Amino acid sequence: MELACLDLEGVLIPEIWIAFAEKTGIPELKATTRDIPDYDVLMRQRLRLLDQHGYGLNEIQEVIGGLDPLEGAVEFMDWLRARFQVVILSDTFYEFAMPLMAKLGFPALLCHKLDVAEDGRITNYLLRQRDPKRQSVRAFQLLNYRVLAAGDSYNDTTMLSQADAGILFHAPQNVIDEFPQFPAVHTYEDLKRQFCELSVRDIAL
Ligand SMILES: [Mg+2]
Repeated sequence: MELACLDLEGVLIPEIWIAFAEKTGIPELKATTRDIPDYDVLMRQRLRLLDQHGYGLNEIQEVIGGLDPLEGAVEFMDWLRARFQVVILSDTFYEFAMPLMAKLGFPALLCHKLDVAEDGRITNYLLRQRDPKRQSVRAFQLLNYRVLAAGDSYNDTTMLSQADAGILFHAPQNVIDEFPQFPAVHTYEDLKRQFCELSVRDIAL
């Protein structure tokens, strides 16, 4: 039995924080796990900036509601789901992701949760667990699934290492250079090919 685990932002949808930074003109909000590998440091900075500028969940959801999946992502998901059980493993939050999940046909999503005050201010964030992507892959392996995983950034690399096969997709050059053990591809067509190659089954493109 094989299962495909995919990162969300940068793989199927745009980076939510970058889109929000562009809309609001707060350049510091453009930092992602590509720039600051320590997720807690990154999130504390984001929440501090939101507070400083008086932005809450409602404003962020407005921006997210206007985003679309990356070009070709919906077709890729259809292709993948016909061939694998698919689970999205993301470091985003359910409160952010749901409008975009609708556009992807509501695939299974494991991510985090926000604490939001009545006035919409984001007061804290709750990580489901430490190293959640890797732990999720481990758990699926304990259920006797062989896991293939794809992601684009630092926060995916422990997931890719834990998986039976890992693929870098849309990754920046510094991540590709640092993790040469993973094949790196940049188009959905090449990603499909990698899934076919790395599967132990005979899968047609
Ligand atoms: Mg990503």
